[in-house]
Amino acid sequence: MPKPEVMDRTVGFLKKNLETQPHKKRLEYLNQKLRGIIQYAYKNSIAFQHKMDSAGLKPKDIQAIKDLEKIPITKKSDLLELQKKHPPFGGFEGVPIGELKRIFISPGPIFEPGEMEYNELGWAQGMVAGGFRPGDITINTFSYHMVPFALHMVDNSLHRIGCISIPTGVGNTEQQVHILKNLNATGFCGTPSFLLTIAEKAEELGFDLQKDLNLKVGFVAAEMLPESLRSKLEDKFGMIIRQTYGTADIGCLGYECLKKSGMHIPDDKIVEIVDPQTGKQVGPGKTGEIVATTFNKVYPLIRFGTGDLSILTETPCPCGRTSPRLLKILGRVDQVTKVRGLFVHPGQVDEVASRHPQIARYQILVARKEQKDEMVFRIELKEEVPQPEKLKEEIEGSIRDVMKLRGEVLFTPKGTIPEGAKKIEDQRTWA
Ligand SMILES: [Zn+2]
Repeated sequence: MPKPEVMDRTVGFLKKNLETQPHKKRLEYLNQKLRGIIQYAYKNSIAFQHKMDSAGLKPKDIQAIKDLEKIPITKKSDLLELQKKHPPFGGFEGVPIGELKRIFISPGPIFEPGEMEYNELGWAQGMVAGGFRPGDITINTFSYHMVPFALHMVDNSLHRIGCISIPTGVGNTEQQVHILKNLNATGFCGTPSFLLTIAEKAEELGFDLQKDLNLKVGFVAAEMLPESLRSKLEDKFGMIIRQTYGTADIGCLGYECLKKSGMHIPDDKIVEIVDPQTGKQVGPGKTGEIVATTFNKVYPLIRFGTGDLSILTETPCPCGRTSPRLLKILGRVDQVTKVRGLFVHPGQVDEVASRHPQIARYQILVARKEQKDEMVFRIELKEEVPQPEKLKEEIEGSIRDVMKLRGEVLFTPKGTIPEGAKKIEDQRTWA
């Protein structure tokens, strides 16, 4: 086996035939998998059968991804409620409990069945796309307690692609630094903020991050990854850092390739972007909730609503993968407001603010005047600017650009926007 440091990390796929198949072929492939899991889940998951029956549906009614719109979305709160009524899994499991290897517990608490043979593809696809190669000795700093991510998903996926995992879990930063050094580890799995903590600790201990340590690749998740933090960490360590997205319930739903052009949807999931109010698919380029379907027979979640917002793109990625991509995670559905018929979410508010370094604090107020929605962008500036009118116009331009809506900018004195204020304050009353 060649040493990881002499391997080309910039090219390669885990399942090239799947990852590069033409759009039409992928649709046929996914539709076929969908019909299979719908048949299976209807027969083996009581909760799913009940859901279909209540909506007046039979498995034959679901032939293609478009037909998924007929099935009501299952939310995390639905899982919680049904698990209380029918413990432990609410009838969502697709195999008898004796066929499981583990039971995981996620915050809620929500119980999750862990299969005997872990077959999920997504995280492993993401590791390869992000530069991990066979032989990478990797510290896995995600939490190993109760939740399925570190042990079940990340460790198994590292093994699937031929990497060696060091199951350190989170914490003990000083020890982690010594482990990285002594084992000459090349891979890191964990949150971006914990990698930063490791960097700071290593520097504090007098280590040179590039000479004394040998990190080459990082697979990060569970937190937002600002580009500024990514480039800081990449520069400090001389490593590649790519992020992934998913949930403990359903697994990987997106991973970045080296081109950093959004997160590719893995080949063992169907991801829809839907209008959170109607559950209808909105198509590429539009903001909506991420709703996912897995082909996992042990835990066949179908139309699982993540509560996260994103935008899908189908434009080709220069890496050669043809799967659609999630552009980025824009926030939570429950933070979304509709203004003049368009969704406004905190991610957009941040985006507008990030374009103008003069802004210190900000908040959007949505009000109703003469039966019309009004949006005001309240801003505290870091310091007085010479031409406030000009800046106001520029920010209003950014609002139009990012939100596709008109909004008025209002500069307010320092201290007007309270600490911890909501990014979007909806003051409308509907009496
Ligand atoms: Zn790509």
